[in-house]
Amino acid sequence: MRGDRRVVIVPCSGIGKSYGTVSREAAYAVTQDLRPADSQLVPLALLVLGDEAARAAVAANPAVTIDGCKLACATKMVKESGGTVAQEVAVLDVYRRHKQFKPQGIAELNEGGQRLAHAVAEEISAKVDELREQSGGTADA
Ligand code: SF4
Repeated sequence: MRGDRRVVIVPCSGIGKSYGTVSREAAYAVTQDLRPADSQLVPLALLVLGDEAARAAVAANPAVTIDGCKLACATKMVKESGGTVAQEVAVLDVYRRHKQFKPQGIAELNEGGQRLAHAVAEEISAKVDELREQSGGTADA
């Protein structure tokens, strides 16, 4: 990404559901550990509240959304906020490819959930790399 341009990662809020927790954990893994220079977390709650900085980040950067179920709250909200969804990641689709990682727990995920979150984060990191290459380089930060 050039300058401040980063891929925005928007996880669904999924409160009370293991798949929603996986969504958030995956977003933290990408933005804090795997691709901190090239990605930025935008919480869904801020978009729902109409937070100006969150809306501006989504309007200016490609977004990867992570949804815990078919309602796809993160994807819908990014689109409603005027953003461009570069990739929609459905936790359930990733789970279908990694059925050995069954997530359980909400406040604290079991090991299967943590591994599933890592698998989701790896897929997103690959997409971040692809978007970064398309836009011509790594972050200056
Ligand atoms: S996408 Fe599904 S799990 Fe995520 S916040 Fe919406 S309803 Fe909840």
